[in-house]
Amino acid sequence: MSFDSLGLKPELLRAVADKGYTEPTPIQREAIPAVLAGRDVLAGAQTGTGKTAGFTLPLLQKLGSRSGRNPRALVLTPTRELAAQVAQSMVDYGKYGDLRTQVVFGGVSERPQISNLRNGCDILVATPGRLLDLCEQRAVSLAEVQTFILDEADRMLDMGFIRDIKRVLKMLPASRQNLMFSATYSDDI
Ligand code: AMP
Repeated sequence: MSFDSLGLKPELLRAVADKGYTEPTPIQREAIPAVLAGRDVLAGAQTGTGKTAGFTLPLLQKLGSRSGRNPRALVLTPTRELAAQVAQSMVDYGKYGDLRTQVVFGGVSERPQISNLRNGCDILVATPGRLLDLCEQRAVSLAEVQTFILDEADRMLDMGFIRDIKRVLKMLPASRQNLMFSATYSDDI
């Protein structure tokens, strides 16, 4: 099976071809059409399965082109390394489009992140604590988020982020698309 049959637009297929990928991975075959169709997705996927492109590609397609100041998609990750990696994927796969991605995480100064957010973004990739800080300061609003993605949900719970995640959920519009990726599925998840 090739990427062509997944319903992705030419500029995304070009970015995929630039990466040298010839075939979608199993998670990409399942997730891409489901996300494009607007469905909620719960996926069991470890790192290394291609899960990032599995949500990044259809998300970029759904968002289309840049619009407004506040993010229309939010990706929560447990660590800053993963946040940076996911944001880089958005930039790589989105290189033939004009969508704006911003990334915020703790452990570094807030100021450059606040000033980046002021320029507007379509996609926000964040770790939970820093995101909540920036929301409290009104540096960003989550009121326009249409797609919410929880990446490595099991690690988020292991790291004690459940209360932060619940606080973030309260700030999101009730009507939205939800995608969750987790390597394991315990009762808590
Ligand atoms: P991930 O599981 O999202 O962390 O991706 C693991 C690695 O697989 C990354 O280095 C991707 O660049 C790569 N990758 C993603 N999709 C494909 C694909 N369809 N074919 C080959 N490599 C891929």
